[in-house]
Amino acid sequence: MTRNLQFDTAALTEQDHAHIIHPWIDLGQAKTQDLLIVAESEGAYIYDSDGHRMLDGMGGMWCVQIGYGRNEMAEAIAEQVRRMAYYSPFGKISTPPAIEFATRIAKYAPGDLKHVFFTTGGSTAVDSALRFVQFYFGFTGRPSKQHIITREYAYHGSTYLTASVSGKPADRAYLKFETETVHHLPVPNPYRRPEGMTEAEFCDKCVADLENKILELGPDNVACFIAEPLLASGGVIVPPKGYQRRTLEVCRKYGVLYISDEVVTGFGRLGEIFASEPVFDLVPDIITTAKGLTSGYVPLGAFLVSDRLYDAVTVPEAKGKYFTNGFTYSAHPVSCAAGLKNLDIIERENLCQHVRDIGPYFMKKFRELSDLPLVGDVRGSHLMLCLEFVKDKKTKEPMPAEWNFGNRIINETMPRGLLARPMGHLVVLSPPLIITKAQIDEAADALRGAIKAVTDSLM
Ligand code: PLP
Repeated sequence: MTRNLQFDTAALTEQDHAHIIHPWIDLGQAKTQDLLIVAESEGAYIYDSDGHRMLDGMGGMWCVQIGYGRNEMAEAIAEQVRRMAYYSPFGKISTPPAIEFATRIAKYAPGDLKHVFFTTGGSTAVDSALRFVQFYFGFTGRPSKQHIITREYAYHGSTYLTASVSGKPADRAYLKFETETVHHLPVPNPYRRPEGMTEAEFCDKCVADLENKILELGPDNVACFIAEPLLASGGVIVPPKGYQRRTLEVCRKYGVLYISDEVVTGFGRLGEIFASEPVFDLVPDIITTAKGLTSGYVPLGAFLVSDRLYDAVTVPEAKGKYFTNGFTYSAHPVSCAAGLKNLDIIERENLCQHVRDIGPYFMKKFRELSDLPLVGDVRGSHLMLCLEFVKDKKTKEPMPAEWNFGNRIINETMPRGLLARPMGHLVVLSPPLIITKAQIDEAADALRGAIKAVTDSLM
């Protein structure tokens, strides 16, 4: 399917190479490589600048829950721009969309997480949450609680602190990170668990890793444990059953706060607005969110914090103390108006239920690709999925990084009408929540064709 678009792809590519610095680009190829210039979009599809249509298997960057081209979103955004485009929420200033949106989100939050701090995206949400934790312990007379426990292969953002609590080894070249107070546990990846260990034993081990780390550092020195319920950018890693609940219990035992990073898993991706409690039986102290919060139409992030923590820092004795953290675009009224409309659509179209209904089909269709020789693991939940390619399925020997396997696969899926996300030897999918069974079939066929083509080229 194509559209007749009037873009000059060659000229745009030249200008891009001359002027744009892309995030996460291979710098060795930055000035020479072909670009995918996404020019138009509709429903679950995007169109490149040559008018070629592709199913958006990544939902943008795990975020376009309601799909593209929603007129009512455009109208809600335009209406807020006309009415009152911007005011900062610093100090005692507020805006109606921010107030209304915080109230609506808080209704979905588990437990008593009723207080919302709006930011500009996921990194600033996590960064702000971590700083809030610091403030909380400082103010409540426990300043030694500074240490943060996280996991290898976690991804929590691109600020100094959030990059420090992220844990992909390959992302650490040349840049500096906070290492004194940040501690990475081994990744709870059942596919790569030690030989001979059952999944239940592996869960025991992962939970013990956390407890041992807290004891090693001393509970009086540990502020929080931060965890995505499923590790998204680390390769859609689904921890062993019971892990989330049991790690929370360990945190409770030692007075360590639990931050559940739902930047990806929230807003329907796992069939719930917040997955922590309904999916993982986890009521954390703080939840971070972004991405699906506005379906990516405009930037916004937030953290939600419990009554218990918020009430502790909003007492009369706090007079003159400030949580000196905020952004010009915190609680942007246009973003909050978009968030409200996004939530209207998710509720009206029952998209969480749709994800719960279609998720098993999505997983089943892609699990069928396990019959192919280089597909080592197909894992995920609901509308989050990852294929891990291996050199040898029996030994699970990893695919050499220099094979650039994920990229090769995507180069083959694109002409077949599917855009997915390559990550080294992984291919990741997280389509818009509106995806249909027919579109899932389309995506699975395209991926199968691509894997076969790349495999044949290697033989
Ligand atoms: N937290 C998680 C779990 C994420 O996956 C991401 C981004 O992918 C972030 C935080 C950072 O969000 P942002 O890119 O909006 O800053």
